Amino acid sequence: MNVPVALVPLDGLDPRLLHPVAANVLEVFGLVAQVAEPAESPASAFDPLRGQYRAAEVLAFLKPLYPEARRVVGVTAADLFEPGLNFVFGLAERPGRAAVVSAHRLVTPEGRLFLLRLMKETNHELGHTFGLGHCPDPTCVMHFSNSVAEVDEKGRFFCARCRAELERALERL
Ligand SMILES: [Zn+2]
Ligand SMILES: [Zn+2]
Repeated sequence: MNVPVALVPLDGLDPRLLHPVAANVLEVFGLVAQVAEPAESPASAFDPLRGQYRAAEVLAFLKPLYPEARRVVGVTAADLFEPGLNFVFGLAERPGRAAVVSAHRLVTPEGRLFLLRLMKETNHELGHTFGLGHCPDPTCVMHFSNSVAEVDEKGRFFCARCRAELERALERL
């Protein structure tokens, strides 16, 4: 079952980074992903004192985009936060159609590692859109990450339990 996922480069993120992420989405979810036109997060989402964007507002901006796609995932070069949290790596509707990932804190001079981190966070937020919660298995992509070290500790795949839950959700898509 191939259902398209729109990957939207936001706020100056190099769209070329999203091609390997799209290939990863096809591999892990069995869903064809396409890289959409670059876009900008709404200025109203930006908090000038923090120098960060409100993740929920960026998510609200993404929701109506590409209505023909089953999922829309924005990947921003900007830093994201949620009230009460210093930053977030991403945010998603759970369950739902839209998700956003921030590349800001994932950046490293090691290009392959950067891509791997982007894939993990994209898979994590997409997992939330399929209704999955956080997983206690530190190697599962649905494990909650508070730091880049924790992102690096987990894989880009789902543990057996999360995989089974994801498969059930994919059947209903
Ligand atoms: Zn999460
Ligand atoms: Zn899991």
